[in-house]
Amino acid sequence: MRKRTLVGQFLVIVFLTSCSVTQPEVITQVDPNQEVKNIILMIGDGMGLAQISAAVYSGSDRLSFDNFQVTGLHKSHSSSDLVTDSAAGATAFATGEKTFNGAIGLNKDTVAVKTILEECEEKGLATGLLATVAITHATPASFIAHQPTRVLYERIAADFLETDIDYFVGGGKQYFDRRKEDNRNLYMELIQKGYQVSDYFEKPLEQTKPDVKKPFAYFTADKNPLPVTAGRNYLAFATKQALQFLENRSEKGFFIMIEGSQIDWGGHSNDGNWMLQELLDFDRAITEALRFAEKDGNTLVIVTGDHECGGMCLTEKSKMGRPKFKFSTNGHTASLVPVFAYGPGSELFHGVYQNTAIYHKMRAALGWDSAITAERE
Ligand code: MG
Ligand code: ZN
Repeated sequence: MRKRTLVGQFLVIVFLTSCSVTQPEVITQVDPNQEVKNIILMIGDGMGLAQISAAVYSGSDRLSFDNFQVTGLHKSHSSSDLVTDSAAGATAFATGEKTFNGAIGLNKDTVAVKTILEECEEKGLATGLLATVAITHATPASFIAHQPTRVLYERIAADFLETDIDYFVGGGKQYFDRRKEDNRNLYMELIQKGYQVSDYFEKPLEQTKPDVKKPFAYFTADKNPLPVTAGRNYLAFATKQALQFLENRSEKGFFIMIEGSQIDWGGHSNDGNWMLQELLDFDRAITEALRFAEKDGNTLVIVTGDHECGGMCLTEKSKMGRPKFKFSTNGHTASLVPVFAYGPGSELFHGVYQNTAIYHKMRAALGWDSAITAERE
């Protein structure tokens, strides 16, 4: 009898342990009246409500998204198209300007506009960009570069040398060190500028120990990193590393944009599992951001998508734990996109507004813009 009981207890323990792995943790809310020192803007590329729903229902009916008390919706259209691309979408968040599809950090008249990352850098905050595609790809590029079209990867790479960004991690090494357009070696130029630079070939990101006295750059691929389904697994670790690094880099605070980049590519390919695994990877990074913000108390976390991709829906064959998807297009759609906010300043993100309002709301949260200006958009 005694033996049987012990076996029973053992089984119960195993069961509970496996449950606790799949149950995302509950993050407690922080005092909303604290000053905002840090902003973590997290963009799920191509992440609409159906994509989030699929991820929520793929597991235990709970994700990091459940920890957000403030939600809103943004209108993602660009100046040229009702259906935006990622360049115009990210430029709207970064600069507060609706621009034409393909434009990186320019307004609709092709004039360069200062981005929130550049402004933070000028004001002495630490800054960062983290992506799971090439760091020169449209979404991260729109926060630091100014180019008329998104495919100019080498010119976008050169723009990284124009701003003293403190931390960046993503693919795209070849646009820095094997350039076709000129003979510059931007990898060496970064080192000459004082950066600690490393890449996937030298050592895994997990083995890097960035010194906060110097800016840090790390390349995760020559072009685009692999999908999660093929073994990529650095986003959550890099999120934790970046936040710790940036926190100690400037007393004035920091701004970072973290992208779950390939959710969009799962959508374009109508590959439900690719999309889902990328979203779950992004969710693990959101948990890291929320853990940091919960402990810090002066950090605003915003999670949104730039647009929906794939015209995705969950079909009637779906079951809890096993969602089934259908896609209606290989492209982006114009659906309103959900916004989630946590921490001081989060209340600004209630409601329905233009994608450009996210820029003004972030500035208002930092005390650089009135809340009225932020509401007007
Ligand atoms: Mg993107
Ligand atoms: Zn796309």
